[in-house]
Amino acid sequence: MNISFTVLGSSAGMPQASRVNSGYVLKADSELYQFDCGGGVSSSFRRFDFDPLAVRRIIISHTHADHISDLPLFVQMLYLAGRKETLIIHLPEEAIEPVKNYFSTLYLFSEKIPFKIEFIPIMKGSVIDINGLTVHAILNTHLIGYTDIIREYGLANKMQCFSYLIQAEGKSMLYSADLGSEKDLGTFLTDLDILVVESTHIDLPSLLDIVIDHNVQKVVLTHTAENYDTNRTLSLAQKSGYDNLIIAEDGMTIDL
Ligand SMILES: [Zn+2]
Repeated sequence: MNISFTVLGSSAGMPQASRVNSGYVLKADSELYQFDCGGGVSSSFRRFDFDPLAVRRIIISHTHADHISDLPLFVQMLYLAGRKETLIIHLPEEAIEPVKNYFSTLYLFSEKIPFKIEFIPIMKGSVIDINGLTVHAILNTHLIGYTDIIREYGLANKMQCFSYLIQAEGKSMLYSADLGSEKDLGTFLTDLDILVVESTHIDLPSLLDIVIDHNVQKVVLTHTAENYDTNRTLSLAQKSGYDNLIIAEDGMTIDL
């Protein structure tokens, strides 16, 4: 199986002129799996010449706008491209009903769209098995800071944010999505081939120690702010003796 991972959007939360928000497409032979759908991702999908009809599933990490705001537009793109086959959307369990309702508000009625949308909830420990690919959902602490406000106002939010460990034919990569800290990834990093990790909520020296300890072969830093200090990052990596770190750009493809 030929597997590649393309960065459609490498921006941190603040929208930028030169990067769109979070979105990545995993290509396994001719099939596409979309991870996250932040602002601009549908355009980026077209810009980098992916085929909307080749999308098999969409997998969302969490409901911050920079990871999900383009989801309805992405579905509209599939619809306008002439899709007929069922679309599976994996969402954090807390988001299923709100997203269904939002789709109705946007007149994306299931009765109108010429394909069925099947929403599958992601929960702690969920495993998605797809044609030789296995995707493990790893609950992380990115949203934990909302604990007090959720309690105070009795909100329904469950603070579900997931990193995804993707395995196929003995190879493995992990897409961190957004984290509470680099410590969320723990033992999932051991002997990983590729770590695609956000740069906004981590401590870089600590991350470098962890990836060296866990024998991670390659690190791709993404979710990058406009003023991100690339030179500092590369020199810190060099000082730590870690040579296999790159900074993501929109359109970059990494082969697994
Ligand atoms: Zn984010």
